[in-house]
Amino acid sequence: MTKTVKIALPIPSDRLFTYLVGDIIYEELIGKRVLVNFGKRILTGIITEISETNDDSKLKEIIEVLDEKPAFSSKMLKFTRWVAKYYYASWGETLHAALPQGMSPKNMLKISLYSDYDREYIQQIKSSAPKRAALLDIIIKKDTPLSVGYLQNELGSENISHQLQALDQAGIIHLERYVEKEIKSKTQKAVKLPDSLINDKDKLNSVLAELDEKAFKQGLFLSHVYLSTFNSREPLLLSKALEDTAVSSSTANTLKKKGLIEIFQAEIDRSQSVFEGEKLSDFNELDHMLNQEQSEALKIINQSAGKQGFDTFLVHGITGSGKTLIYLHAIKKAIDAGKNALILVPEISLTPQLTDRFEKSFPGLMSVLHSKMSDGERYDSWRKISNGNSRIVLGARSAVFAPLENIGIIIVDEEHEPSYKQDAKRPRYHGRDCAIVRGKMENCTVLLGSATPSTESMNNALSGKFKLIKLIKRGDGASYPDIDIIDMKEEKKSGAVKGNFSIRLLKEIIDRVNRKEGVILFQNRRGYSSYLECSDCADIPMCENCSVSLTYHKKIDLLRCHYCGYTVKAFKTCRACGFPEMKEVGSGTQKIEDELAEALKNMGCDAKIVRMDLDTTSKKGSHRKILSSFARGESDILLGTQMVAKGLDFSRVTLVGVINADLQLYLPDFRASERAFQLLTQVAGRSGRKDDMPGNVLIQTNHPDNMVLDYVQSGSYIDFFNKEIRERKNLWFPPFCRLVLIEFTGRDDKKTELAAEAFGSFLPGKNKYLVKFGPMRPQIYKVRNWFRHIIIIKNDKSSDPSGNILRKYFDHAFEEYGRKHSTSAVRINIDIDSYSSI
Ligand code: ADP
Ligand code: ZN
Repeated sequence: MTKTVKIALPIPSDRLFTYLVGDIIYEELIGKRVLVNFGKRILTGIITEISETNDDSKLKEIIEVLDEKPAFSSKMLKFTRWVAKYYYASWGETLHAALPQGMSPKNMLKISLYSDYDREYIQQIKSSAPKRAALLDIIIKKDTPLSVGYLQNELGSENISHQLQALDQAGIIHLERYVEKEIKSKTQKAVKLPDSLINDKDKLNSVLAELDEKAFKQGLFLSHVYLSTFNSREPLLLSKALEDTAVSSSTANTLKKKGLIEIFQAEIDRSQSVFEGEKLSDFNELDHMLNQEQSEALKIINQSAGKQGFDTFLVHGITGSGKTLIYLHAIKKAIDAGKNALILVPEISLTPQLTDRFEKSFPGLMSVLHSKMSDGERYDSWRKISNGNSRIVLGARSAVFAPLENIGIIIVDEEHEPSYKQDAKRPRYHGRDCAIVRGKMENCTVLLGSATPSTESMNNALSGKFKLIKLIKRGDGASYPDIDIIDMKEEKKSGAVKGNFSIRLLKEIIDRVNRKEGVILFQNRRGYSSYLECSDCADIPMCENCSVSLTYHKKIDLLRCHYCGYTVKAFKTCRACGFPEMKEVGSGTQKIEDELAEALKNMGCDAKIVRMDLDTTSKKGSHRKILSSFARGESDILLGTQMVAKGLDFSRVTLVGVINADLQLYLPDFRASERAFQLLTQVAGRSGRKDDMPGNVLIQTNHPDNMVLDYVQSGSYIDFFNKEIRERKNLWFPPFCRLVLIEFTGRDDKKTELAAEAFGSFLPGKNKYLVKFGPMRPQIYKVRNWFRHIIIIKNDKSSDPSGNILRKYFDHAFEEYGRKHSTSAVRINIDIDSYSSI
């Protein structure tokens, strides 16, 4: 018998692949990363099983084991296996997604053009080998080394090896192996005392005394190293020590030669940089006395935690009710009991303030994981967690895969946020739902928190699946803000508007600026105008690659696609009819900013406005800068997209203005009202969070009688929920069914449509378990030049509670499709519990 291992690879195949292990130590291999040859590539896979075989003649040996300690514990292997299965992805893809970038190095082919290639060649093969010609065309146009994957994508074909070979043989292109770098830890020179001095205090003292007299600088440096050795757990960097003592490196070298200090390579923890910068929290909230609601809530949570079992709580607390304080106490309880805590937050914009609030209560115990960190920072954070050196992990969606062990509590803050759903790549998982599954596997407490719980979660709470905890008062006794709806149609009639602003809102803003209080303004659209439109023929410039209009960015005078990034200079003349005037339609945050500055100036008010949207926060640390300037009162008005709607806790804010609520209310999506209700309630909740400074909210709209606004105004979540759940039931939408989107994408519209039809024909139209809708062409039918066709499945949850039957139907459809229709030109993606708007 020969020893082998089974390996999950990051490819869309459900199979595990068997490799020989050679002389590698056979024990404790499960969960480790390995490099293996796979076809022409080298990939990083994860060992999931050890096995044996009688016939090893066809097997390859693994190239290298990358880990000393497994990257995945047996618990994490089980968890990722569940995620893969439920969301219809391969296990290997899921394991790959669970690791930080750079931890799955791969080796691939790069294709480049010979500079002296035969320029006639492409003409010669145009008719005889059109696919080869098309491929060559792309290679010539790009004129930079390209990966096979890129070319497959561009050509919309999975199978191009034949064409590549032919071009290689014709001496047009050459293929080169290119190895992606594996991310590594970073080291830097550090300095410490030698053990001989650490263990001999008398000697150390006499050396120091002697140096003090004869070589003052050496003495200064040595005592600095001495202090650091005994006072700090972190290594003392040589560069820092030289800087702090202002001595030259030759002084350090002399000390080294004398054997009085040691210089060594110390590992740098890059993850600490997330804690740098100005702090957005100034005291430890654990020092607050809990109010009555909060202590009762904690009592209920702790009772369950005391039993050491799995339980999910939905903490429904109005904005400002102090949910964070409950999280902090629940975490403290877990930490005191020797357990660890995992906290998920919806997105990066929430993290600077929340990170600071948690760090203030648990200094030194936290690690952070999110997508704005560099690969190196994330890798260090991940390893620190994996090595058992973090007690608390705070992160965005993918932190649900953090290698934290011994978890006592998992918290999902703002559980209703759609950004918890991964909808761009496999596995298309929901961070909240996975957190609950992980909690079940860890047998720990799960807390979901929100002021506006998702309809799904509230339904689970009311049906008893989750335990419901309600907080109906603001934490420190502040009252709920006064919310007024401004009917912009009426205001316009009486001429009381300036651009997008009613005079009423402007006056309130000026009043707050004069009182040095803070104002938050919300407009959920970035850029300048939504789009340009020809004043004559009404033509709207569209993206060349996507079926969406281009957003106008006035400052840079560019039109940009928010789906693919395509950018062109703004047109002054209509491209359709030549009319020399394009008008700006709709308003984004940039335009609102300009309008506001102008209006305030004209009304004699000198206010500082800061804008927070995707365009102003692309640089690292920019969030923190914008927020801290606002917190300090250096800026009066914080204007932004949904980034300003959530989680911010600034006591100086007493006015929130919603510039145009209609942007939210009328989206073509069954979740549109829910989303509008959530966003408007959340942004309103930023106002008046301290009891001595009551808050106001003004919402501008052209549709003041929309019911959602009523519910926002009265702060009546449950009335909204009751209306919403009735509609969902009538129309059979989630939570009453499992909504699944099957997306077909390809470069050729017709082929894509045919593939969707073929695949659809292998699924039942309607039975006890599911109903199929489509195939159909969605509203956004083209993105990045890929055409989209979709099928929607509503899967019955009572007859198919875990979706197993649905998966069998999909397996069957893929098999039939593979045999009868399969084309590499069309990709099929399955999105379980889809949140995409169609
Ligand atoms: P939520 O997350 O529920 O919107 P926060 O946790 O941000 O609310 O709390 C809102 C504010 O009220 C915070 O500044 C918090 O420090 C304060 N707060 C919460 N609970 C108390 C309490 N028991 N006593 C005093 N202040 C409190
Ligand atoms: Zn585009």
